[in-house]
Amino acid sequence: MPHEAVPSRTYLDYNATAPMRDPVRAAVCEVLQQPGNASSVHAEGRRARHIIEEARISIAETLNCFPGEIVFTGSATEANNMALRGLPCRRVLVSAVEHPSVLGAAEAVEHIPVDRQGVVRLEALEALLKRSEDPALVSVMLANNETGVIQPVRQIVALAHACGAMVHTDAVQALGRIPVSFSDLGVDMMTLSSHKCGGPVGAGVLVVKDNTGEEPLHPLLRGGTQENRRRAGTENIAAIAGMARAVELAAYDMPRMRQVETWLHRMEQECQALGAVVFGAGAERLPNTTCLTMPGVNSSTQLMHFDLAGIAISAGAACTSGKVGQSHVLAAMGVEAGTAQRAIRVSAGWHTSEADIQRFTKEWKTLRDRVGKKAKEELAA
Ligand code: PLP
Repeated sequence: MPHEAVPSRTYLDYNATAPMRDPVRAAVCEVLQQPGNASSVHAEGRRARHIIEEARISIAETLNCFPGEIVFTGSATEANNMALRGLPCRRVLVSAVEHPSVLGAAEAVEHIPVDRQGVVRLEALEALLKRSEDPALVSVMLANNETGVIQPVRQIVALAHACGAMVHTDAVQALGRIPVSFSDLGVDMMTLSSHKCGGPVGAGVLVVKDNTGEEPLHPLLRGGTQENRRRAGTENIAAIAGMARAVELAAYDMPRMRQVETWLHRMEQECQALGAVVFGAGAERLPNTTCLTMPGVNSSTQLMHFDLAGIAISAGAACTSGKVGQSHVLAAMGVEAGTAQRAIRVSAGWHTSEADIQRFTKEWKTLRDRVGKKAKEELAA
């Protein structure tokens, strides 16, 4: 029977989960060959311990922090929860555009507003900080998962530290897209996720500066003494080893990312010429992320069209149920609900080619034309 040629898929949803890199897969498979609990004293246990400590050293080197400052977790969600709930801060100030794992982590959070580009309003942060002398924790992400907008984290640190507050940053989407250095940022805590930078799902990191006050960070998970009593539970050595390899490789991707940025920029211009709105276009953004609208077409219709055409993208805000929800990020930027409902997110990465972005642009124009023609026909009828 003759086969119909199936065009290969184009994956443009790196911010949801990035494809695992080949050397990472090899590292994970190698670790999985043998058993080993890092708390056991026999040779297998010592091998497992060695894998973890090597991973810690390697990640610390890439991130410019000390190995002892790294706490391995099961995900970035866990790391964010640990950061926001582990310190005895009376106030927690978070930007209005944070990931739900930050927004929902603490009991009562105060929101720091953002401007129309999605950038934290520094004067509003300063006013919030000066409102009370209670010890505060400020949590502002390095780059936004929906729009790619980069926050002025160094300035935020200067403001917060001047007021005696500590700073946590969720750098999940920045790693592998822009350089990330814990010491250069000057933050007190930083979150990372393995599967957003080419590692396996199942590992995350919270970097905790040695001097986070007299009170040590309280563990979320209690029980065993793993991770220096900061995170109980048998370590996932395969995921940790894979994450270390992915973090190492991510640091080498910057030239590739600059190419990706050029291709995305061209795509944005072509779509904007046909009526697209690009969110955060006036702000500094990640090189791999574009959040844009198509006039007259809601996000779900666009997602379906692209999926059938072999292209994986996402809506700016996807709920866990898979349904498209209202984006709190776009709402915080003052985007009107009707416009926000037409937003989709394109997020590229190290395996993306120029042809992939051209394929997306072509499909975008096809759908735009189809909808435009239909609207004209309806008007004429
Ligand atoms: N923080 C940001 C900015 C994210 O984009 C995500 C996932 O989308 C997370 C945290 C949660 O990451 P994980 O899947 O590792 O829990």
